[in-house]
Amino acid sequence: MTPIKDNLAKINLQIFNACELAKRPTSQVTLLAVSKTKTSAMIEQAYLAGQREFGENYIQEAVEKIADLQRLSDITWHFIGPIQSNKTRLIADNFAWVHSVDRIKIAKRLNDHRSSQDTPLNVCLQVNISGEESKSGIAVKDIKALVDCIDQCRHLTLRGLMAIPEKNASEQSFEKMQLLYAQLKKEHPSMDTLSMGMSGDLSAAIAKGSTMVRVGSAIFGAREDK
Ligand SMILES: *Cc1c(COP(=O)(O)O)cnc(C)c1O
Repeated sequence: MTPIKDNLAKINLQIFNACELAKRPTSQVTLLAVSKTKTSAMIEQAYLAGQREFGENYIQEAVEKIADLQRLSDITWHFIGPIQSNKTRLIADNFAWVHSVDRIKIAKRLNDHRSSQDTPLNVCLQVNISGEESKSGIAVKDIKALVDCIDQCRHLTLRGLMAIPEKNASEQSFEKMQLLYAQLKKEHPSMDTLSMGMSGDLSAAIAKGSTMVRVGSAIFGAREDK
């Protein structure tokens, strides 16, 4: 087995075990492989091991890899990084999902850049659940306005919420996200995704209802972060 294949098997087992513990079906949790800073060849190794959902943070780098790997046409690409408004066209053109929408201006621009021929862009709102000033994400009090805006956007589908909790407060944050998600879902039936949990805390996130874990270093190895 290649190391990446090995790592994927371990993470899938960890997801399986966390689901068992939480008495949830494994089919409720999707593994998103976060391939930022990693090469197209490494993504292809993960693909050959059966992985199909990939997440990227840096648009320029992502667009090159997506072009490189075009022949692997059943990959689903997710944008999970901070969004600058001058990059919304590239995101709308290259990705099927965006997890990091955190303001109305960005939602509107993504909607404008998606054409009627495309399938709608799947959108999660990034929530600043730990209330940290420096973190990106929308404040809880502003969520409703953004959700209503996305509901009005013809070329966007509201899929759910995403969070990157502060490390030492992740359990409470996951629980808050679970409640928030359950409340919003009642009025917005298109919501089916709670994107939370990373290499270090995916089991805790699954215990609190995560439906998509975003795992990078545990699959591809440590990064030299930008
Ligand atoms: C890098 C990143 C991840 C993956 O983090 P790991 O700790 O390497 O698993 C998940 N989500 C987001 C938004 C990221 O930027």
